[in-house]
Amino acid sequence: MTLLEGAVGVEDLVLLEPLEQESLLKTLQLRYEKKEIYTYIGNVLISVNPYQQLPIYGPEFIAKYRDYTFYELKPHIYALANMAYQSLRDRDRDQCILITGESGAGKTEASKLVMSYVAAVCGKGEQVNSVKEQLLQSNPVLEAFGNAKTIRNNNSSRFGKYMDIEFDFKGSPLGGVITNYLLEKSRVVKQLEGERNFHIFYQLLAGADAHLLKALKLERDTSGYAFLNQNVSRVDGMDDASNFKAVQSAMTVIGFSEEEIQQVLEVTALVLKLGNVELADEFQANGISASGIRDGRGIQEIGEMIGLNSEELEKALCSRTMKTAKESVVTALNVIQAQYARDALAKNIYSRLFNWIVNRINESIKVGTGEKKKVMGVLDIYGFEILEDNSFEQFVINYCNEKLQQVFIEMTLKEEQEEYEREGIPWTKVDYFDNGIICNLIEDNQRGILAMLDEECLRPGVVSDTTFLAKLNQLFSTHNHYESKVTQNAQHQYDHTMGLSSFRICHYAGKVTYNVNSFIDKNNDLLFRDLSQAMWKARHPLLRSLFPEGDPKQASLKRPPTAGAQFKSSVAILMKNLYSKNPNYIRCIKPNEHQQRGQFSSELVAVQTRYLGLLENVRVRRAGYAYRQRYGPFLERYRLLSRSTWPHWNGGDREGVKKVVEELSLSSEELVFGKTKIFIRSPSTLFHLEEQRRLRL
Ligand code: ADP
Ligand code: MG
Repeated sequence: MTLLEGAVGVEDLVLLEPLEQESLLKTLQLRYEKKEIYTYIGNVLISVNPYQQLPIYGPEFIAKYRDYTFYELKPHIYALANMAYQSLRDRDRDQCILITGESGAGKTEASKLVMSYVAAVCGKGEQVNSVKEQLLQSNPVLEAFGNAKTIRNNNSSRFGKYMDIEFDFKGSPLGGVITNYLLEKSRVVKQLEGERNFHIFYQLLAGADAHLLKALKLERDTSGYAFLNQNVSRVDGMDDASNFKAVQSAMTVIGFSEEEIQQVLEVTALVLKLGNVELADEFQANGISASGIRDGRGIQEIGEMIGLNSEELEKALCSRTMKTAKESVVTALNVIQAQYARDALAKNIYSRLFNWIVNRINESIKVGTGEKKKVMGVLDIYGFEILEDNSFEQFVINYCNEKLQQVFIEMTLKEEQEEYEREGIPWTKVDYFDNGIICNLIEDNQRGILAMLDEECLRPGVVSDTTFLAKLNQLFSTHNHYESKVTQNAQHQYDHTMGLSSFRICHYAGKVTYNVNSFIDKNNDLLFRDLSQAMWKARHPLLRSLFPEGDPKQASLKRPPTAGAQFKSSVAILMKNLYSKNPNYIRCIKPNEHQQRGQFSSELVAVQTRYLGLLENVRVRRAGYAYRQRYGPFLERYRLLSRSTWPHWNGGDREGVKKVVEELSLSSEELVFGKTKIFIRSPSTLFHLEEQRRLRL
């Protein structure tokens, strides 16, 4: 146990005294300044992004951490990974590692550190190594297609990811399953100032050899592409060309064929070319505005590449067929509508391509169903988000975080309870904030906000974001966690920060105001049938497989589930999966907004500790007993405090510990003797022990 000895601040916030926001921040800051980026709350790991390579990773450190138990060395992500892996292998308990934090906090790096630790310790042999390689190489591929430079993080994951790694009974890896959540597809067509599109586009243009570039009919220069020339095109320290080579080789290692890789790149190129399809006004004889394609050559090229008649493609982009039971009517789209259709198509192709890639990786790494497997899940998912303008995306992301908080509290309490039962100690109930009411407000099947949104999307007649909001206002006017301008007025509170088109939810982490604009549209997530049918008609095998609903035989009138409904059901599956496993938490914190080493902004960190519920975490953790330790190590550390046990003690560990605490006349209310561990109620008792020990040394 390195507790306190030579440690900077406390290594475990459970021992923090006094327990308050300020001391918590001070401790994290002090440790950060000494490059101690890891701190515990019991078995929860807090990680503060160092923004520099620290000499604490790699083979020697892996070797060290694999030989010790959790508290014996300094807090480290390897210690957590080791605990999870050993408990999976030796105690046969499926594990999950939940990594949360805001963008740029270090989640993805943490997930890679966990994976590389597990890969290093989990079995040997040719077969095993090739599985490991496949699992590890999925990272560069997913990052190329799913990550982008944002103002917060040069390599920001624009999707959520959950990966089950599966092991055999000896603890050797067999394979895995990846689930992805909600790719930010709007980025394909539009990027904010200082941001880029997904990495793969730049990698392809920079890294493809002349032959490939020519085959794809692409130019090396990004400035000619409407989807790439809106903002920056380079990232400091990022070598797009060499990353492209790495992606190609990773795809090969995973098992993509040459042909598949080629097709993936063709679809990627198609998206870029779609961005350059310029639409213009055209007036029809009857005076109705219509649109057409300005430059015929571009569309011709696209048509050739995907094996589709270019007139057919133009028709799909510039008109819309409305089907009723009796007839179908074709209407021309004006230029704004046609641009909207083009962008929708580009976004759809790209996000479906991404899903296809994830499925393709899964096909390669999937494990036969017959085998009995042990599973370690790793969740790397966006943390709680409050932006200046919060929309549908923030709404579902924060809903997911609300659910994760629920899992967190319930599982932490459950684990405490189980440990007490194992140790034969009476369990006393702990009070905590139960956010079930907020989860319900959002997800209730009958009258939750998502259900209301679906109802509004499917309701015939004139629906809009406004009618949706009106419905919420009516339903939730008295709900404690819902506010809007209208309900506020009723309560005679006036708030300038909230517009008439907003509602606000009081999340566990704070209040968030959501703007309802485009909620209906984003939830509907519809692609005009003309477009999906055109894509299905293309001869390009991969492209056409992405649009199965374009098959006229499949074209039933049943609509696909809404974006909200899909997200809700994937969150439900995720929760069920997490509840079946033993949780391990990594809470990532971003110390400053500038991606700078050495800077620690207390205000910024304070907000994150609140979103992560860290104080609540410490409170729950020490509601019962702040500290517990097995008798052996405890006796070893403190036996010098008792004449009976020092310098020699021949009895059992438990008896020895009893002698020590008797001699120090510690209050019996402070201590409980479990089957294998001693439990200490408050940190001050432990500090007292430590103080006595220091005096004796
Ligand atoms: P997130 O996934 O939470 O958005 P990332 O894991 O992508 O954040 O981290 C952002 C950047 O911070 C990384 O690209 C890397 O430069 C740096 N970083 C994160 N964790 C570490 C670490 N443990 N050591 C060194 N640098 C790190
Ligand atoms: Mg990430």
